[in-house]
Amino acid sequence: MRTVGVLGGTFDPIHLGHLRPAEEVREALQLAELRLIPARIPPHRARPRVCAETRAALVRAAVADHPGATVDERELHREGPSYTVDTLAELRAELGPVSLCLILGLDTFRGLPGWSRWRRLFDYAHLVVTERPGAGGSLPAALRAELEQRRCTDPAELRRSVAGRVCFQSVTPVDISATGIRRALACGRSVRYLVPEPVRERLAREGLYGYPQL
Ligand code: ATP
Repeated sequence: MRTVGVLGGTFDPIHLGHLRPAEEVREALQLAELRLIPARIPPHRARPRVCAETRAALVRAAVADHPGATVDERELHREGPSYTVDTLAELRAELGPVSLCLILGLDTFRGLPGWSRWRRLFDYAHLVVTERPGAGGSLPAALRAELEQRRCTDPAELRRSVAGRVCFQSVTPVDISATGIRRALACGRSVRYLVPEPVRERLAREGLYGYPQL
C-alpha cells in the first residue's frame, strides 16, 4: 500500500534534528512522500517566536532540493489552534486508502494524552515514534494501555493497513532542539551544521531570532 509520512511541528525554526530522523523514517518505511506540516498556532506551548508564514518559508527552504519531501501549509489557513487530529482527518479524506504515518519524537509521543481527541488519531493514522536524546523515562498509563493494543515491531506491518498501529523506529540520535537554536541565535552564536544551509542563510539575511545582521 502507498505510504505517506507526516511530520507536524512548530518548526521555530526547522533544524537537522527534525530532518535527519524523518529522513531515516522515510527510508525505513519506503514512504512515497514525507509531508512536513508547520503549525500556525500550536495548542500545547508558548506562542512561537516567528510568524507562521516565515516558519513555513524556512521549512520550504529546508527541503527545496529533496524530491521525496513536501510542505503542506493547510494549518496556516485554518482558524484557531492547529489540532493534529483535524489535519489527519482532512488528509485521510483527501488521500483515501493509503497507509498514513504520523511521525513523532518520543518527547511529543509522551505528551499525547494531553492532545485534543488524542485517541481519534489512531482512526486516521499509524504513529511512528523516533528516539530523541534526553527523552527517556516512563510513559503515562493511558498511553501504555493504548500501546499494548497497538504496538507493532515490524515497520513493514504499517504498509499493510491504513491506520491504528504504533511502531518505534530507531534513528541516529540528533541532539538538536529549536530552543537551543533560538538561544544560540539570540546570543549571536553560529548555527552552522545545526540547520540546513539555506535555512541558516535566510536566518542571517533576515536577522531572525535576534541573529546579528551581517
Ligand atoms: P522546541 O525546542 O521549540 O520545543 P523542537 O525542537 O522540539 O522545538 P518541534 O517543532 O516542537 O521542535 O518538534 C516537531 C516534532 O519533531 C516533534 O514530534 C518532536 O518530537 C520532533 N523532534 C524535534 N527535534 C527532534 C530531535 N532532535 N530528534 C527527534 N525528534 C525531534
